[in-house]
Amino acid sequence: GCSSEGFAAALRAAAEVVAEHRTELIELDRAIGDGDHGENLSRGFTAIVSALETEVPATPGAVAKLAATTLISKVGGAAGPLYGTAFLRASAKLGDAAEIDVPLLLEALRAALEGVQARGKAVGGDATMVDALIPAVSAAEGAAAADASVAEVLAAAADAADRGAESTVDLVPRKGRASYLGERAVGHLDPGARSTALLLRAFAEAAR
Ligand code: ADP
Ligand code: MG
Ligand code: MG
Repeated sequence: GCSSEGFAAALRAAAEVVAEHRTELIELDRAIGDGDHGENLSRGFTAIVSALETEVPATPGAVAKLAATTLISKVGGAAGPLYGTAFLRASAKLGDAAEIDVPLLLEALRAALEGVQARGKAVGGDATMVDALIPAVSAAEGAAAADASVAEVLAAAADAADRGAESTVDLVPRKGRASYLGERAVGHLDPGARSTALLLRAFAEAAR
């Protein structure tokens, strides 16, 4: 299982990965959006790390809630509120459990996806972060059914998110700024799908 300290460490690892990929995410967003995705996420995760320095909340659910409120308050644009909603819905599922085990992880991942879809109204194939999240949740469910550990479930989710993100290259975006380009956006990787895959990979590595 993953404790609140474990989850805080995973968020710090995610912040490092976001910082390492800041320029890449900016360039992906510059091609089909307004070029701020790397900056938005890096500002948000830097703020999460600062908030965790003050105090690591007692439960994983409270850590997720802190991440959510930080992203919602510090990150503008589409992705801040979407990721914020994902963490908020996950936090509600985690409740006051002391540890995240595999069944709770699945519930949190499903809730995160549902939150993103409730907020942004994107479905699979719209070339958004949802195209990384849908296969990630399915793969996590498959791995859990095969008795995988938390780290293995997250690794399966990250692998599937990578493939899902790649699938956005061939899609016509139907949500967010990239949708303004229509067919002209075909051939480009969606920045939010890429960041979702990066975040899941960071969580999977941190859980090992
Ligand atoms: P903005 O487009 O406001 O500048 P960002 O650049 O931070 O915000 O985030 C863009 C990403 O947000 C897109 O690549 C896409 O993955 C995601 N996104 C945008 N709109 C939606 C939506 N309605 N549903 C799901 N994801 C979305
Ligand atoms: Mg942008
Ligand atoms: Mg923007």
